Amino acid sequence: MAKDACLSSQKLGCEVALRALQFDNRFVRELPGDPDVTLRRRQVLHACWSAVTPTPVRAPRVVAVSRDVADMVGFTPSDTDAAWFADVFGGNALLDGMSPYAACYGGHQFGHWAGQLGDGRAITLGEVVNARGARLELQLKGAGPTPYSRTADGRAVLRSSIREFLCSEAMHHLGVPTTRALSLVATGDDVVRDMLYNGNPRAEPGAIVCRVAPSFIRFGNFEILAARGDVALLEQLIDFTIARDFPQIMGDAQTRRAQWFADVCTRTAHMVVQWMRVGFVHGVMNTDNMSILGLTIDFGPYGWLDDFDPTWTPNTTDASHRRYRFGQQPAVAYWNLGRLADAVLPAFSDESAIEAGLALFRSVYAAEYDSMNRAKFGLVGRHDDDDALLRDGFALLYDASLDYTRFFRALGDLPDALPDDATATSLVGDIFYDDAKREQQDTALRSWLTRWHARVSVHQHDDVHARRARMHAVNPRDVLRNYLAQLAIDAAEVGDPSLVHTLLEVMRRPYDEQPEHVQFAARRPEWARSKVGCSMLSCSS
Ligand code: AMP
Ligand code: MG
Repeated sequence: MAKDACLSSQKLGCEVALRALQFDNRFVRELPGDPDVTLRRRQVLHACWSAVTPTPVRAPRVVAVSRDVADMVGFTPSDTDAAWFADVFGGNALLDGMSPYAACYGGHQFGHWAGQLGDGRAITLGEVVNARGARLELQLKGAGPTPYSRTADGRAVLRSSIREFLCSEAMHHLGVPTTRALSLVATGDDVVRDMLYNGNPRAEPGAIVCRVAPSFIRFGNFEILAARGDVALLEQLIDFTIARDFPQIMGDAQTRRAQWFADVCTRTAHMVVQWMRVGFVHGVMNTDNMSILGLTIDFGPYGWLDDFDPTWTPNTTDASHRRYRFGQQPAVAYWNLGRLADAVLPAFSDESAIEAGLALFRSVYAAEYDSMNRAKFGLVGRHDDDDALLRDGFALLYDASLDYTRFFRALGDLPDALPDDATATSLVGDIFYDDAKREQQDTALRSWLTRWHARVSVHQHDDVHARRARMHAVNPRDVLRNYLAQLAIDAAEVGDPSLVHTLLEVMRRPYDEQPEHVQFAARRPEWARSKVGCSMLSCSS
C-alpha cells in the first residue's frame, strides 16, 4: 500500500487507525442503482443494485478467520484480532471507501422461472484492489434485510455459516474454482429457523460470513433484465462484466460478447468437472446460484459423496425429483447455460455465437471429464480396454457401496505387486458401507483390481512411487465430509469453535497424508448415516 493511511470506521462513534485498503467500487459506480434507499421490499426496475447498509447486531465476535484470505485482502493478524474487525465483518461498522449494496437478480429455481430474487441477505461492502492488483469483492452473508428479502429476515444461522465458511476454503485448496471466505462472525443474536421445514422452528445462534470473490455476478443478474425486456441495461451489464471480470477479452463489442459467452461456458464446464473429481454435490444449482466466473457459489445444502451413488443429493427440499443429484450436475449446468443463453441473446447480432458457446461446453466437458477420470485412475496413454476398465470400476464403486474418496486414495496406495492370496478387502482397507455387499463383491473387486494393476504396471511400465504421487495429487485424502462439518457445528453451537479451526487447517492440505489427523480421513461413521446435517439438509439456513 502506498501510504499507511488511517481509515476511519464509520458508525462506531470513534476513529480507529485501520489498515489502508484500496476500494474501487466499479459495480455501483458504473451501473445504475435504485433511487429508493429504503428497505421496503419491492421490484427494482431499471437498476442493477440497491444501496443498503448492514443492520447492526448485538455482540459481534469473530469465530474464525481464514488467514490465507485475510492476507490476500491485505489484513495482518493484528487487524483480524482487533475489535474493529468484528464490528466491520459483523455488520456494525463500515470502513471508509466501502459502498454497500444488494444486487438485483432473478433466477430459474428447480427448473422454473422465479422472477426477481436478488441479494436478500447478502450485502456487498465494496471492491478491494489488493497489493497485487487483484480485485476482491467483500460480501457479507446474513447481514440483515434488503429490498430483496421478500418475506425473510436477511439473516443466517451459525450452522449454515460454518458450512459455507469451511467449504469455501476446502474447495479452494482442493483446486476447485470457488468463492472464498474471509471471516465467520457470531452475531450474538438468535435467528429462528425450521431446519427441515417440518413445523419445528427453533432459535439458533446467528452468524455472518464475509465471502470474497473477484465478482459475485450470477446468471440471474442477466436473466432478470432480459425477463423485463430491459435490453439496453442488459447490454450495459454484459459489457461491464466483460470489462471488469474478463479484462483479457479484446475486440469490438460483438467479438467480445461472443468470446465472453464462450469463456463462461468453458469455465462452467471446468468447474463441474472439478466437482465430479472431488465428489461434491452443490445441492441447489438454480441459475441464481451460478457464478458468471464459473466459481462454486452459495454453499447451502451441499454435500460430499461418501458411498458412491450418482443419484444422491443431500438436499431434502429436492428429495422427490433429485434434480440436482451428483450425476446430473453436468446436464443441469448445461441447462442453466441455456437459460443464460436465452437471456443474453438480445445482445447478440448473430445467434451462432451462442450456439458455439453451448457446443463448447459439451466438448470441453467431455474432454476434461475424460482426462480427469483417467488421472483419477492413474492411467497414462490410451488402451482399447480403458473405457471398459473405468466403466466397470464405477459400476463396482456403486454395486459394492464403496467410499468414493477412499477408493481412489487406496488405489494409489496399492503396492508394486498384488499378493495372489490377498482379498480385495485386505488390499483396499476400510472403504465399505455394507458388509453384505462387501462379501458379495469381494471376488469381483479383486479381479477388477488385478485388471487395473496389469493396466498400470504392465502397459505403462509405471514406477509405483511415481504413480502414487501422481494419483494422490488428483485424489484428495481429505474432503469436508458432511459429518465432519456437523461435528464442528455441534461443538461450536455450545461454545467450542476449536473443531472449526482444526478442520480449516486440515482442509488447507487435502492431498497430504497428515498422520496427526487420520481420523478426518475416515469414511462416514455409522451414526451419521441418517443424521440430520450429515445426510439430510434443506435450504433452511
Ligand atoms: P438460496 O436458495 O440460498 O440461493 O436463496 C434464494 C433466494 O432467497 C436469494 O434471493 C436469497 O437472497 C434469498 N434468501 C435466502 N435466505 C434468505 C433470508 N434468510 N433472508 C432473506 N432472503 C433470503
Ligand atoms: Mg443463492
